Amino acid sequence: MPSPTQLAKRIGKSPTIAMNDKAKQLAAEGHAVIGLAGGEPDFDTPAHIVEAAIKAMRDGETRYAAPSKGIRPLLEAIADKMQRENQVRVDPGSGIIVTPGGKLALFLALKAMLDPGDEVLFPAPYWVSYPSIVTMVGGSPVPIETSSADGYKLRLEHLREHITPRSKAIIINSPCNPTGHMLSSSELEAIASLALEQDLYIISDEIYEKLNFDGRPAVSLASIPEISERVVVINGMSKAYAMTGWRLGWLAGPSSLINVAGMFNSQTATSAATFTQHAAVAALTGPQDCVEVMRRAYEERRDYMIRAFNSIPNMSSPDIEGAFYAFPKVDKTSKTSAEVANIILEEAVVVGVPGSAFGITRDAHIRFSFADDINKLKEAVERIRGIAHLLA
Ligand code: PMP
Ligand code: GLU
Repeated sequence: MPSPTQLAKRIGKSPTIAMNDKAKQLAAEGHAVIGLAGGEPDFDTPAHIVEAAIKAMRDGETRYAAPSKGIRPLLEAIADKMQRENQVRVDPGSGIIVTPGGKLALFLALKAMLDPGDEVLFPAPYWVSYPSIVTMVGGSPVPIETSSADGYKLRLEHLREHITPRSKAIIINSPCNPTGHMLSSSELEAIASLALEQDLYIISDEIYEKLNFDGRPAVSLASIPEISERVVVINGMSKAYAMTGWRLGWLAGPSSLINVAGMFNSQTATSAATFTQHAAVAALTGPQDCVEVMRRAYEERRDYMIRAFNSIPNMSSPDIEGAFYAFPKVDKTSKTSAEVANIILEEAVVVGVPGSAFGITRDAHIRFSFADDINKLKEAVERIRGIAHLLA
């Protein structure tokens, strides 16, 4: 019997997806589980977007999309959005590839820029898929640990310590999954200096850009003129428009790299679903108040989650600037984050994702999505409060 690749032994199933699946399974078995593991909006996709997809299907938009890199109205809508909202100029004809989800956009970007053994830096805590995707395309992941005590700040000297002759790219995610951290202007400058000094690509994962709190908008690294030619933006419809199941994302950047990513897209996905692309045009060019309604709800839940976790003895939550995750920690414990997550699962029947999945080894953090009904969040917090003495 032939066996799968050596690589298979180094890549596990995505832990966020595994924990989300576990919560769904427990619910199906009749357990009173509260699943806060998966990062996906609890809102339905706004009606005008759904209607646009239905219309497209009725109009016969059910064949392969052409061109495979994205239908022209969507490429134009993305370019207009980036100019208007991010102050980033991108040519719709040569600078964008539409993909079935931002995750595949990231995969294609890395596949297009890395030779075997090339290193990719990214701050930890990081989104769970960064090291795995880098490894899957043959690169070498280089996480750079930051700490909650220091507000997850990235410093140029610290970044420099991780540079080698094989360094090729840095991935930045602002607002960050799982911490919500948003880059300050000094961090933006540090990343730009490093990229210029070391001749790196920057992958700017902006999937949570619209979910920012306290009136501080996220700044796109691609809007910094000195580095705009080396920045590849990853974005998509999942988070801002509550469209996780539609699988629609994109990458935008320098045409030399976009060309290669487009080639790989045509050899793998072929294209994103055609009627989904029409729905995305409606989302990007239609009314935006639906996004603001959802953002405001996340902000209220953010306020609640921070207050609630800080009121549980021996737990604390750092501030959350964006995205929709709480990342509290158990302050004094000899337990690992995996053990803490397991106790919370067994005793409180609440499912979160341990900090270790996001590359945090020092402290016992656990991630809970607050893209869920506030009453469910309150119930989850009270259950955790009731068993918090077991976490020490
Ligand atoms: N980047 C980050 C940081 C994410 O959390 C996600 C969520 N899945 C993605 C990219 C990709 O999202 P999607 O594939 O649903 O567009
Ligand atoms: N990005 C979300 C999360 O972190 C969805 C699941 C996934 O793609 O990892 O939970």
